[in-house]
Amino acid sequence: MIEIDCTEMDLDDQLGLASAVSDALGGRGVALVKDAKLVIDAVSALAAGDVAAAVRAYVAKRADASHYSVETEGDVIKVHTPDPLARSRGRRDTGELLPPNLMKCPFCGFVTPYKELYDIHFRSHGFMM
Ligand SMILES: [Zn+2]
Repeated sequence: MIEIDCTEMDLDDQLGLASAVSDALGGRGVALVKDAKLVIDAVSALAAGDVAAAVRAYVAKRADASHYSVETEGDVIKVHTPDPLARSRGRRDTGELLPPNLMKCPFCGFVTPYKELYDIHFRSHGFMM
């Protein structure tokens, strides 16, 4: 199981990263937000390097990209941010206070603003829409 440890990022950033990684994987897998981490729900075989490349591409688009770093250790990709404390200051709790544009999977708590991703994810549980 490939994981992205993004506990230093705030929730908006985590959701942005989840969307960007899911987009980059192009249907081979989706990134799910779980306990301030992202876990990759792989539809087909994925290498941690593919996921790390997607994470780096997301980070590189930020204005303050040079303050971020991405480390890979086995199947865990860790994102370091310039201001880890921003997370605890700005953190809203995940789950029950979802903005109205987000959809949440009833089976595992996966959250996404994108209907297409949600559909792909939902089917990954083995259910037909
Ligand atoms: Zn799910």
